[in-house]
Amino acid sequence: MSDLKELVTGYMKLTIPQLNTVLTIGETSIPYTVRYSHRSKHQRIVVTPKNVEVVAPNNTPFEEIIDFVESKRHWVFNAVEKCRSRNPLNNSSNNPQYYTNGIKVAYRGEQLVLQIEETDVDKVIINFTTYFDVKVPCGLTEEEKQEAIKKALINWKKDRVLQDILHFAKIYASKLNVKLADIKLSEQKRAWGSCAKNGTIRINWLLVEAPLTALEYVVAHEVVHLLHRHHQSAFWETLGTVMSDFKERKACLKSWETGSLS
Ligand SMILES: [Zn+2]
Repeated sequence: MSDLKELVTGYMKLTIPQLNTVLTIGETSIPYTVRYSHRSKHQRIVVTPKNVEVVAPNNTPFEEIIDFVESKRHWVFNAVEKCRSRNPLNNSSNNPQYYTNGIKVAYRGEQLVLQIEETDVDKVIINFTTYFDVKVPCGLTEEEKQEAIKKALINWKKDRVLQDILHFAKIYASKLNVKLADIKLSEQKRAWGSCAKNGTIRINWLLVEAPLTALEYVVAHEVVHLLHRHHQSAFWETLGTVMSDFKERKACLKSWETGSLS
């Protein structure tokens, strides 16, 4: 980040018109940044899950950069799509995403289209059918709009995933004849679920982006921990009695986690 700041200051002195620009393909807008490098001999485009950057030799005219990106538009579009769907943890709801018509949002193991409409509403309203229909109040700045959509989507996802978690927890608690204590959402870096000594179950809300079958596995797993606070054979045996295909589900979670779901 400090790199970027330095570059920006450098550019202001050179009065280059714009550093951040947007590539538009159909209804999708892909923002990208430009970085000049004296070591670069040719222009190149770097796509990461977080951003798209064009690296150009010093003194490349801005128009040439725009033309270059335009000529590579289909490649950029595909690379961005690939990157976004590849790794769920890199594409989690916490990471910056530019919300624009046609962008894909991860939900229950799928990438679903988001449509934005500026209309006469007081706050962002999300309707979900087979895609995300997002209504945004008129008159917001682009920054306010992005922030409002981001917040609304996070709230929507947390609300949805909690409903799913409670639903599954009740089913498995009843099957195992155990009493549920508190169930909370978590956002741990390295854990999908946990079961505390006092019985509080925490499930990572980012699983909202995983296939439902994987979420169900994580919930059932934690509910079984109310009976067996270990991963010895008794634990897996009990899990197997209420979820006969837990191995497949566990593999599904792993596969989603590593982004190898095709
Ligand atoms: Zn466990």
